[in-house]
Amino acid sequence: MPELPEVEVTRQSVAGQIVGGTIQSIHLGKPLRWPLQTDPLSLVGKTIVSVGRRGKYLLFHLDAGCLLVHLGMSGSLRFARQLPEAGPHDHFTLVTQQGSIRLHDPRRFGAVVYAPGVDHPPATQLLAGLGVEPLSPDFDQTRFVKAMRGKRTSVKQVLLAGKVVVGVGNIYASEVLYLAGIHPASRADRVALTRLRKLHAAIRLVLQEAVAAGGSTLRDFSAPDGSAGHFQTMTKVYGRAGLPCLACGQPVTRFLQGQRATYCCANCQRG
Ligand SMILES: [Zn+2]
Repeated sequence: MPELPEVEVTRQSVAGQIVGGTIQSIHLGKPLRWPLQTDPLSLVGKTIVSVGRRGKYLLFHLDAGCLLVHLGMSGSLRFARQLPEAGPHDHFTLVTQQGSIRLHDPRRFGAVVYAPGVDHPPATQLLAGLGVEPLSPDFDQTRFVKAMRGKRTSVKQVLLAGKVVVGVGNIYASEVLYLAGIHPASRADRVALTRLRKLHAAIRLVLQEAVAAGGSTLRDFSAPDGSAGHFQTMTKVYGRAGLPCLACGQPVTRFLQGQRATYCCANCQRG
């Protein structure tokens, strides 16, 4: 599933190519998770002025309105000067005079939704309840520690829920908790203060590293230019069950939390 780093890599890759482009046509495939919420013809003639991101939503700001794009479980965006004919899994294509963007999404949990602005419905509903952006200056250590201490569920579940901080998906949750020395099953409100401070720093560090590495290429994610990310080759615990912990040599363990795989070193990671 594309997580925040993959969405950010997509944003960085696409923005420089498509900003300034005026929409010439929109081509829809099969229905996605949510409908576009406007007549595709009403978008023709609008210009893309910037490409932002909030959580896992890409925000294509138009000179009037905004397109919110979510990659869902299996989506990827592709940009090219000229794209080939749409295939059976291509469900949204936006053509400008500078080139085209296409959403390829075999499982169709992704979506492209139009809103008159990011502070108007349906954008407000889609973006409601998202935690702070981990790579923004708003990700404050004191506020993060306070928010974590107010949660009684496991620290990993709090991270995955995305209400305290967005973007720490399943791979990254195992990684940041390993760096902070926190056992993933620990209750968030019982984790020592020093470790929560370490966790705050680890979240920013790991997500920055993942973006710099081009994200993780799992299943069918690749950047819009077709290049593969390589963060998955840099993980310290994720995907390393049975292999020695890089710090202490004890085998890395794998278990399920909320049906998602968790990796940790039971020797290095505590409450
Ligand atoms: Zn260890």
